[in-house]
Amino acid sequence: MPLARSLWIILGPLGFAPVPRRAHGFETSRLRPPHVDYPLTALISDLHGNWPALATALADAEARGVERFVCLGDVVGYGAKPRECLERVIQLVAPERVNGLKPGICLLGNHEQALMQSASEFNPNARAAIEWTREELSRGERARNLALWDFLDSLQPSRSEPGAMFAHGSPRDPVREYLLPRDIRDAAKMRANFACMTEPVCFVGHSHVPAIYYEDGTFYRPKDTEGPYDLAVGEHRKAIVNVGSVGQPRDGDPRLSYALFDGRHVTFVRLAYDIAAAQRDIRAQGALPGYLADRLAVGH
Ligand code: ZN
Repeated sequence: MPLARSLWIILGPLGFAPVPRRAHGFETSRLRPPHVDYPLTALISDLHGNWPALATALADAEARGVERFVCLGDVVGYGAKPRECLERVIQLVAPERVNGLKPGICLLGNHEQALMQSASEFNPNARAAIEWTREELSRGERARNLALWDFLDSLQPSRSEPGAMFAHGSPRDPVREYLLPRDIRDAAKMRANFACMTEPVCFVGHSHVPAIYYEDGTFYRPKDTEGPYDLAVGEHRKAIVNVGSVGQPRDGDPRLSYALFDGRHVTFVRLAYDIAAAQRDIRAQGALPGYLADRLAVGH
């Protein structure tokens, strides 16, 4: 019996076959089959000004040997450290000679868009945070502020490269459309999104709920650090992978979420971080609603 077929029978219709993990810790070499010429990439999204969460995620990804970071947007909004998060992401997208990593990517999120245009469609808590962020990024040294605003202004809504595409929200509406688990029952919405894909996999964030959506309707929600999983995508089988949120998880698990991709396998990572420190940062800013600190503890 072919291996793929026997794995299918063992695993059931999950839509992919887990690559066994070694008993003693994470084996990064497993993520890099020699035939795949793709940099080991960490996909981070929805950092939302949460510096303790971002620092924890980046340190973990670097320890796993990642060669590149792709940030799917919403670096700012909600959290109290938008400047620190932006400065760090600017470093991550810098040329290889600057940081030793392959040049990264950062996309435009709806919070960056609201920051530069209008937050009038946001709920009151999100709007208050955007207004505070706008002021925060105007304090301090003028030349540095201008560099931050130039970076924000340079962000693109989506990116495509051989083997993968990236958007903040969805393939169809890269900045604003949410993809949530309930959408698996909305065949028209899913079909329209898969029709917009030019590569077999699209990585998204925005809903803050990690998941894999396949074109054939199969669906998977990771619950912990899981993988590497062979996505098993190709010309006739596409997948949309939501990497979850670093700075404000909303799937009931307060641990930060990010993902790794090597061109073929995806690994979901969940990590505890110093939530209390992120909450203190928010509460130290009177203009930021306390609710934004409270929700970090429950992951909603
Ligand atoms: Zn977000």
